[in-house]
Amino acid sequence: MSSSLPKIANSDQFVNRGEFASGKVSLAQLPRLADYLPEGFDVAQAELLTWSVRGIRDSLGRRALEIVVRGMVPVTCQRCLKMFLWPIDRQSTVLIAKTQEELIALDEASDLEVVLCDHGLDVQTLVEDELLLSLPFSPLHDICPDEGSSDN
Ligand SMILES: [Zn+2]
Repeated sequence: MSSSLPKIANSDQFVNRGEFASGKVSLAQLPRLADYLPEGFDVAQAELLTWSVRGIRDSLGRRALEIVVRGMVPVTCQRCLKMFLWPIDRQSTVLIAKTQEELIALDEASDLEVVLCDHGLDVQTLVEDELLLSLPFSPLHDICPDEGSSDN
């Protein structure tokens, strides 16, 4: 049985108190990643990913989250079409916007990611976003397993 990902009900409180949440998540719980996984891959066999979220202020005092996601995600090499594991080790700071207007303003004023949070924050969405940003558009082995035999 897999535990579901929490929601951050009150992002003001989460940031102001410097709260922290962490856990593990299965790829089976992250449906937006399904399109990126190798065809026919059984998500039940994937290793769990670890995640954490901490409420912080960025260097300008803006409300933000520090999100860490680590683990291995199976991808298909676009050269040899074999599956391999893509290592994820991502730590990022995401600004919190309360309104669409604030989101646009923060987006223009900063290189950081901005997440819209008018009510609560869904950790699943945050973790999925980070993973989608971590995965390469066209993953390739450094050296494909069969490449040695075709060397000249
Ligand atoms: Zn390859």
